Amino acid sequence: MKKWECTICGYIHEGENPPDECPVCGADSSAFIEVTEKAAPETPEEDTAEKGQDEENPVPETLLEKATALILQFHLHPITVHTPNGIIPFAFILLILTPVFGLISFETAAFYSLVFVLLNMPVVLYTGYVTWQKKYKGAMTSLFKLKIGASIAATVLLTLLVIWRLVQPEVMATPSSGRMMFIFLALLLLAAVGIAGHMGGKLVFGVKKSS
Ligand SMILES: [Zn+2]
Repeated sequence: MKKWECTICGYIHEGENPPDECPVCGADSSAFIEVTEKAAPETPEEDTAEKGQDEENPVPETLLEKATALILQFHLHPITVHTPNGIIPFAFILLILTPVFGLISFETAAFYSLVFVLLNMPVVLYTGYVTWQKKYKGAMTSLFKLKIGASIAATVLLTLLVIWRLVQPEVMATPSSGRMMFIFLALLLLAAVGIAGHMGGKLVFGVKKSS
């Protein structure tokens, strides 16, 4: 049985021919190269970040190169994404519970949480961009289109919610169509970070092989 490796995400496919589309990142069959069995022991698996560093940037010199190397070496994107993916579900629950319990302090906590996430977004987006460019060669496959689209949608929604709450601090205080819309936008935000996070999970953990 031949083995084929996706040159974008590293997914290994077993079969006579490469798959039409990578089940992880969505790259087409031209992105696959055949893995030859005897080549494997001679070139042991290295960390992608280190390999990329050796081949493309032998010694990081500028501050930007050093920052890029650090982002990849210490996996700063998978770490920093826990801010939106961890805090936004909690903020959403607080918003939902605000009218249920009539406790405006829940809404205040949700607002502070959203502000904190918004302040972290430049780091999340920048580390994501660098990781995409360096580790995944900036490939615009179906996975990355969806992931980047969801990230942009999340950032826009988050910015809108924070601005709205700053302009109208009492938006969540009383039953109104504005409050319904505010919670609905927060739900869309939750969905957007969920999609971006799920796509990241696919890249990091791969997919279960069907056969
Ligand atoms: Zn792939």
